Amino acid sequence: MDVQYNLEKINEQIEAHCKKGNITTKPDVIAVTKYVTIDRANDAYNVGIRHFGENRLEGFQQKKAALPDDVVMHFIGSLQTRKVKDVINEIDYFHALDRLKLAKEINKRAEHKIKCFVQVNVSGESSKQGVSLSEVETFIKELKQYENIEIIGLMTMAPLTDDESYIKRLFQLLKLKRDEIKALNLNYAPCTELSMGMSNDFHLAAEEGASFVRIGTKLVGKEE
Ligand SMILES: *Cc1c(COP(=O)(O)O)cnc(C)c1O
Repeated sequence: MDVQYNLEKINEQIEAHCKKGNITTKPDVIAVTKYVTIDRANDAYNVGIRHFGENRLEGFQQKKAALPDDVVMHFIGSLQTRKVKDVINEIDYFHALDRLKLAKEINKRAEHKIKCFVQVNVSGESSKQGVSLSEVETFIKELKQYENIEIIGLMTMAPLTDDESYIKRLFQLLKLKRDEIKALNLNYAPCTELSMGMSNDFHLAAEEGASFVRIGTKLVGKEE
């Protein structure tokens, strides 16, 4: 389907749900291009998308090289420690910081401060990556020693379910935790942002005040 059409539909939903949630700042849409070709990513660029997300090293490097220079590149997946050096200085935002070993490696390889989201496993499902809600504060306090890491917010992935009130609850919990960390006034962790919402639940995330929604399937599709 046409990216322009998809984007219009997404923007309409974001608009309606921000209104419903009394949210005045709409989220930025990150086009998740992990399933699609460079041509398809360029289609998204041509309809005005500037934020792009990839979850693997190869896809990230490929899309970054192919897209124009004014894009903002988000690495949204877990990153193996040994691959950090190959990519960390190419990333504008890293969404999946979830362990100290990774933080240590990022800090060592980074040539400047890296904007990171701490990934939080709000639902507590064992299959999901991320720090548990109860561990977020301790984890972030431990990051103080890493001068190249800036914690700009929290990220989560909601489970796949039709239970919208459950998903909303998870997003609300992430937001409350974001507010708690922000209130600590840590200079290395301003924690003002929320990365939440994907194809199935971006409308709910918008309603709860997401800063970034990460949309693949419903925006650029799963394949050509
Ligand atoms: C794949 C992916 C998305 C986008 O998923 P869709 O359901 O296709 O929108 C968002 N966030 C992360 C972390 C992903 O890995």
